[in-house]
Amino acid sequence: MQDDRDRARDILEAAGAIIVGLDPVGTVTLVNRAACALLGRAEAELTGEDFFDVAVPDDDRPAARLAFAALMAGAAGPDGTHVEHAVTGGDGARRTVAWTYSAVREDGALSGAVAAGQDTTERCRQEEQIAHLAYHDALTGLPNRTLLREHLRLALARSRRTSAGIALLHLDVDGFRLVNDSLGHAAGDELLSRLAVRVREATRATDLLARPGGDELLLLLADLREDPVTVAQRVAGEIAAALQEPFLVDGTEFQVGVSIGISVHPRDARDAEDLLNHADAAMYRAKALARGGCAVYATAAVDPLERLSMSARLRRALARDELRLHYQPIFGIGHGELVGVEALLRWHDPERGRLVPPGDFIPLAEETGLIEAIGDWVVRAVCEQQVRWAQLGLRPQISFNVSPRQLRRLDFCERVRRHLAATGADPSRLTVELTESATLQDPAQTEPILRELHELGLGLALDDFGSGYSSLSRLIELPVGTLKIDRSFLREVPESHEASAVVTAILRLGRALGRHTVAEGVETEAQHRFLAEQRCSLAQGFLLGRPLPPEEVEALLPRAAVG
Ligand code: C2E
Ligand code: CA
Ligand code: CA
Repeated sequence: MQDDRDRARDILEAAGAIIVGLDPVGTVTLVNRAACALLGRAEAELTGEDFFDVAVPDDDRPAARLAFAALMAGAAGPDGTHVEHAVTGGDGARRTVAWTYSAVREDGALSGAVAAGQDTTERCRQEEQIAHLAYHDALTGLPNRTLLREHLRLALARSRRTSAGIALLHLDVDGFRLVNDSLGHAAGDELLSRLAVRVREATRATDLLARPGGDELLLLLADLREDPVTVAQRVAGEIAAALQEPFLVDGTEFQVGVSIGISVHPRDARDAEDLLNHADAAMYRAKALARGGCAVYATAAVDPLERLSMSARLRRALARDELRLHYQPIFGIGHGELVGVEALLRWHDPERGRLVPPGDFIPLAEETGLIEAIGDWVVRAVCEQQVRWAQLGLRPQISFNVSPRQLRRLDFCERVRRHLAATGADPSRLTVELTESATLQDPAQTEPILRELHELGLGLALDDFGSGYSSLSRLIELPVGTLKIDRSFLREVPESHEASAVVTAILRLGRALGRHTVAEGVETEAQHRFLAEQRCSLAQGFLLGRPLPPEEVEALLPRAAVG
């Protein structure tokens, strides 16, 4: 008999598993060494005690007891009951254990159970760590976009019940590239993590700060009882104040500004994706409004209904083919010939019974993301126009405008390629106009796209040149063939000495770099003369020709010598 017990014990110890024998009500009848070690108690301290009371923490106890009771009631299959519940270790620490409870029968009757366990604490911790990595940014330890989106969804669900407000702030560091470029990535990382800490400190513990990547941060303010715009603007102000003090990185002081875009629920958007998009668009607006400080822009017009119906109408405009392109001629200054046209978007809104200029709807389209579909329509329309004119022996260089938001689409070039292929348009007759600020603010992102467009055979022009303070070294590297001088400079030419000097300098720069220069907004003879004297190559403006519908501009186009 003693021999039998010893043999059984040997087997229990040899298995390496944690083994606990229980009677039908859960009293410990037997434990092996591994179980004693795990629970930090001697065999004598455990036998005769209620296992669930002495070993299982409060929160897991009911579930563990229930699984055991089910087994004792004969509700489990032949291979027992599998359940994961924690135990309290000797040092009071919680260990997670995966258990198999098997029924023991004596003479056909249930006499108790054997619980065999495997300590999975390490594995669980690793799994948690992996989960943490999947939901957090490695540099700052902040939640990433995925986790933020989850929180945003939950907050939206809560606010549907409580009708509390939500605000989402999209922060983007101004001039971050400068730090990265001049001091290297390590310093850039350092600055980012310090900045994240400061922003974190400027916000409430319940606000969720996330880093979706790059030099951007997202801040979620949920369960707001006050007007969410007011709260968001106050928080933005506090963040701005926290960034007043410069950062010291590598012995250099950096005064860092941020652009903050704000979108709020329920005014701007109802779902998580829309709120994220709105905040992103608003951030770009903030950037465009002012740089070098903290710029804040909250989306939406005064009346949300008006805004909604406006974007709904714009969406419909696209579906109902209410968009038109007008073409403004571009002339060579030396020879006076029409060499190209710029496609400018118009919306024939039947409700207003007139052509709506792009300034009235493009900002909204950019905020709502509709610009991507509209921009796509423009590319297609321009390709078709090029082919139609070519069939008539007309081959003007056709420029078209692309908004920064379109450029950020990964498939932008692919779409252009597809339209070219579908229409048979000649890419060498097409020029993409990109604003200087959009292109050179984040060259690392835009440069590959510019190269791809260039390889497709399209020309590239920097629009509104001179207004974006771009770095010349960047410009030299980019495959940009044309600089379009911002209209605001020309306005005061030739009266203002300063404006004239700027235009002259840009023209000289263009010549030195071997780029074409187009002066936009030429309205007077005096301006035209000045441009001719300064050897500007091309001119565009009301003096020379207004934007016209295609059939009217057609009459002005010279016949190409070669068909
Ligand atoms: P932009 O690219 O700078 O286009 C030139 C604008 O200057 C046009 O305004 C044109 O009508 C106007 N303009 C031309 N000559 C003169 C002049 O002598 N005097 C004055 N005062 N203005 C002149 P428009 O057509 O209202 O377009 C405004 C802006 O809307 C464009 O500025 C461009 O940024 C944007 N836009 C136009 N079409 C599109 C498009 O298809 N896609 C995108 N993303 N943006 C577009
Ligand atoms: Ca343009
Ligand atoms: Ca322009």
